[in-house]
Amino acid sequence: MLTTLKRIVQEVSKIPVLEDALAYLTETLSNAMDVDCCSIYLADYEEQNFLLMATYGLEKSAVGNVTIGFSEGLVGLIGQREEPLNISDAKSHPRFKHYGEVKEEKYHAFLGAPIIHQRKVLGVLTLQQKNKRRFKEDEEAFLVTLATQLALVIVQAETRGTLSLTEDNQNQRWRKKISGVPGSPGLGMGIGFVPNFKVSITSHVAKRSKNHELEISKYRKAVELTRGQVDELSGRIEGQVPEDVQAIFQIYSHLLDANSLGHEVEAHIKQDWDAASSLKYVIENYIQQFRNMSDPYMQERAVDIEDLSNRILANILGTDSPDQRVMDPSEAAILVAEEVTAPMLAEFSQIKLRGIISVRGSNNSHAAILARAMGLPAVMGLTGAPLSLLDGKLLLLDGYSGEVIVSPSAAIKREFKVLVTEELELSDRIMEQAHLPSVTSDGYPMSLMINAGLSAEMEGSHFSHGEGVGLYRTEVPFMLRERFPSEQEQVDLYRQMLEACPEKSITMRTLDVGGDKPLPYFPIVEENPFLGWRGIRLTLDHPEIFLVQIRAMLRANIGIGNLQIMLPMITSVSEVDESKRLIRQAFHEVSEEMIGNDKQIVMPKIGVMLEVPAVIYQIQQLADKVDFFSVGSNDLTQYLLAVDRNNARVSGLYDSYHPAVLSALKIIAEQCKKFDVPVSICGEMAGEPGGAILLMAMGYKNLSMNSHNLLKVKWVIRSVSLDHAQSLLTNTLVLDTPQRVKEEVNTYLESIGLGGLVRAGM
Ligand code: PEP
Ligand code: MG
Repeated sequence: MLTTLKRIVQEVSKIPVLEDALAYLTETLSNAMDVDCCSIYLADYEEQNFLLMATYGLEKSAVGNVTIGFSEGLVGLIGQREEPLNISDAKSHPRFKHYGEVKEEKYHAFLGAPIIHQRKVLGVLTLQQKNKRRFKEDEEAFLVTLATQLALVIVQAETRGTLSLTEDNQNQRWRKKISGVPGSPGLGMGIGFVPNFKVSITSHVAKRSKNHELEISKYRKAVELTRGQVDELSGRIEGQVPEDVQAIFQIYSHLLDANSLGHEVEAHIKQDWDAASSLKYVIENYIQQFRNMSDPYMQERAVDIEDLSNRILANILGTDSPDQRVMDPSEAAILVAEEVTAPMLAEFSQIKLRGIISVRGSNNSHAAILARAMGLPAVMGLTGAPLSLLDGKLLLLDGYSGEVIVSPSAAIKREFKVLVTEELELSDRIMEQAHLPSVTSDGYPMSLMINAGLSAEMEGSHFSHGEGVGLYRTEVPFMLRERFPSEQEQVDLYRQMLEACPEKSITMRTLDVGGDKPLPYFPIVEENPFLGWRGIRLTLDHPEIFLVQIRAMLRANIGIGNLQIMLPMITSVSEVDESKRLIRQAFHEVSEEMIGNDKQIVMPKIGVMLEVPAVIYQIQQLADKVDFFSVGSNDLTQYLLAVDRNNARVSGLYDSYHPAVLSALKIIAEQCKKFDVPVSICGEMAGEPGGAILLMAMGYKNLSMNSHNLLKVKWVIRSVSLDHAQSLLTNTLVLDTPQRVKEEVNTYLESIGLGGLVRAGM
């Protein structure tokens, strides 16, 4: 059973067009389960009905035409109840409704299962049989299992289908709006740009074309071009590689000469597919056949076929294929990648970036944090959208809602531009108060600092706002390199940062890699990276890395004296003891090296991050050992709620406004006051209007946030009184869900005239 299931799902997911894939599925499933009829209905939420998308056993002409209302018939019942239905005689069921066009009079037994993805019913999968019988339990279980797998295939195909079907296609029923997770607020409009985009037959999305002659000639020219390239490559390495490698080129030549390949591709073109899609269709079949062969040598040839067809595909797509194109730096662009990384942002900073789309990651992953730090709107977790479909298309990106609109109509484009203008006006109002102090309307001062991660040069003007750096994520420059930076490189980097505002304190956090922050040159493979070798755990295991970093910080601080050192991911008191021992060692080493030098080395203040829930219960013990605390509310939320901050599937559960998180934050503030240790907060919520108000009311006097939020938070602080903030906190602490907390906070913001921030989703 499992093998059959895997085979069906694998084969179905390879078929480029959803309708074809579903048709194939209904036939294969009927055969595999030995039933007379199998059908798939997909939900259309605008029309509130299920459309028959494919069938094996019902009338073919009903496909694409017959719809069943959400509250009609057995299919509607399955959708409503969200559970399977197994009956020996469908006609005897009170909810049975007869649809003449499908011609199902001959069938009696009926089994249906809902197709559900992330709590949403996408459709219904049904089996029917002529005789009267209840389907067996294992058949029912099989159908339910298949339906769960099919849901993923449909979600992916839906997104592909959205964009691959031509405008005149009758079945054009998919929206051009793709939903992800909001990664960084803001609106962005620009041309999708996928760096290092590789032409790939498997990810290429099928397109229709009726111009058979043109497509056939494109295909033939591409084959000729490829033949020349393959010959040239073969000649170039002749004698330099073993014979069996050289033999690959012969296989390539044979394949290119094979009439059958050409005939099959051209036959497909004649069925209204363009050259690239026809090649894809034929080649994917070949690849599958080779992979299924028992001879391992022949199985391996699938790789060659794929490589060769990628070369033909590149030639079909021509010189303007994305990997050969250089982005015009003056053109507004949206950077799109499987996973947007820090180096990528640095690499493409010279183009006019208007936003970021990362297929992987979520609101709390580092790409999103980086985007927020750079003030770029971002959408994360846009799964199911092949990169090839976003490349080169006009994209509207909404970083507040997490939606991306592909190739919008003129009207939508106009509407979007109005929103962008409104957003800019709001920013202007915020800027007007930039030079004023950060005090509440009843005179309560708040200290606002910035979170930094790039070099001092890149952070540039941000230093002038706020009272220093509350969190410098030193791992960012580590992630931007191809090896660990040397001690001197680190000294130079840190010194630039400390010198950028010598009169303000700069809190440098020691290397916090692991979890979602991999170093390209230090791979860590773990089952549970967030519960694994992260932050201080890793650097204490590698004192050579820790000591070099501390030495570099201490050396950089000589003659300036504004450094503070902060330790990430502290879980136990012993980790603080061990870190302090190493810091003292580094201090003595640098002091000795300084003998004879008139400049003084000073011991910086040392603090720890409160981000692992265990430390909430050890504040008293830690208070004796450190100079300050800083709450990492991002990780604290992740670990308190047991929700991976990077997993788009559970991102709806990740919420710093969860009542449990708010209670924990309040307890921390009270404990820190009791044991008289200064505490700040540097997680993302400190930079949110509602978050900042609640935190201030809890007693946090020092908020550190990404620089783009600082002026907005200052504007908010100046608009509220401490008194009102405290009443708001009292009201929210009795609420039982994050949604209710946020509603309460938003209502308050509206009431004091800050509704613009709420409407803009800021
Ligand atoms: C946090 O966890 O809140 C924090 C500021 O650290 P990071 O996001 O870098 O893990
Ligand atoms: Mg953290």
